[in-house]
Amino acid sequence: MPQGQMKIHEYQAKRILGQYGVPVPRGEVVENATEAEAAARGLGGSVWVVKAQIHAGGRGKGGGVKICSDLEEVRRNAEQILGMQLVTHQTGAEGQTVKKVLIEEGMDIRKELYLSILVDRNTQAVVVLASTEGGMEIEEVAAKTPEKILREDVDPTAGLLPYQSLRLAYGLQVDKADAKLVRPTAALIGNLYRAFEGEDCSLVEINPLVLTGDGRALALDAKVTFDDSALFRHKALEELRDLDEEEALEIEAADADLSYIKLDGNIGCMVNGAGLAMGSMDMIKAVGGEPANFLDIGGGADQGRVETAFRIISKDPNVKCILINIFGGIVRCDVVAEGVVAAFKNVGLSIPVVVRLEGTNADRGNEIIANSGMGDRLLKAQSLREAAEKSVAAAGNI
Ligand code: GDP
Ligand code: MN
Repeated sequence: MPQGQMKIHEYQAKRILGQYGVPVPRGEVVENATEAEAAARGLGGSVWVVKAQIHAGGRGKGGGVKICSDLEEVRRNAEQILGMQLVTHQTGAEGQTVKKVLIEEGMDIRKELYLSILVDRNTQAVVVLASTEGGMEIEEVAAKTPEKILREDVDPTAGLLPYQSLRLAYGLQVDKADAKLVRPTAALIGNLYRAFEGEDCSLVEINPLVLTGDGRALALDAKVTFDDSALFRHKALEELRDLDEEEALEIEAADADLSYIKLDGNIGCMVNGAGLAMGSMDMIKAVGGEPANFLDIGGGADQGRVETAFRIISKDPNVKCILINIFGGIVRCDVVAEGVVAAFKNVGLSIPVVVRLEGTNADRGNEIIANSGMGDRLLKAQSLREAAEKSVAAAGNI
């Protein structure tokens, strides 16, 4: 699995938050228009919301959230949204295919607020962020009106304390909208924190958290991601994975125990060590290129792993050249070089590969690359800069 964070859908996130006592609108997830209409009828009321379920935000602006005032409208919108390629600022230009929609009871929204819980890398602790500017992207609020973002740092030994939740509720001016809602909002924040901690989340973002005309505070939207390193403690969460939403190559790489993240450039990268991989990507950028991926092959850069990495990187049709940057510490460069040459021949790559070896037996490794008989298709480079420049040149030549 790609290391980092497992994403889930909004409807799944709301189920989990509901179990922790966070109020959420009633709703049902469906996969076709007939079910959508039936779900709306079952929910009752006179306003419904049809919401595209994809692992990306910004759905409202992209046309993936529709408010409906009769059942026919629910059916029509569900029909239109299901199967669409929803493009939002978080999906990339090709968008994401919508396979499920959430049908929810409509809310009479009086106020939209923002709330999130995440790990602050600077303080190395959990922080709760809140803002009166709900419905807007928090990045935009941070850039334009940073004073409108409230924060409560959480002491890991104490957890989020009740006074902190109350201070946030007052900071959000909940009392001005409806004084009766101060305590329920503070309770919601407290329960959200319990969910964050209990499920080992890496992020819980409620945008918007709404105060309604009928005097309730609810999570109208929910984005929840989990810390992959803690998933072993939550077997039930594994079932919430939606492989349709994940990059196929990333899943394949994870199965092969390679850390691979697909990017949009044309220079494939194969590096041992996450830091070196980041450095290599930076260097590609510095000389005017664009990396096609992050790939940490790990300590054992043997022939088998290099071969698997070649296959995965080259499946991305954008890749026009592969840069290999290996530091031979425990693993010897000559052994790596032999593996690279053999893997290159086995896979039958049609794109050039630039190899930069440094460390134990680097000279012997470079000799092996130089004498591989592969000519311009397998190039060696001395420095990382030279490797990046050769890769950019080679990628431009085909
Ligand atoms: P996102 O665009 O992916 O973040 O999706 P959201 O779930 O946040 O929905 C986008 C916007 O749709 C919200 O900010 C609300 O303004 C609006 N919206 C969603 N549900 C309702 C609802 O039940 N009633 C009303 N009036 N608006 C809603
Ligand atoms: Mn939202």
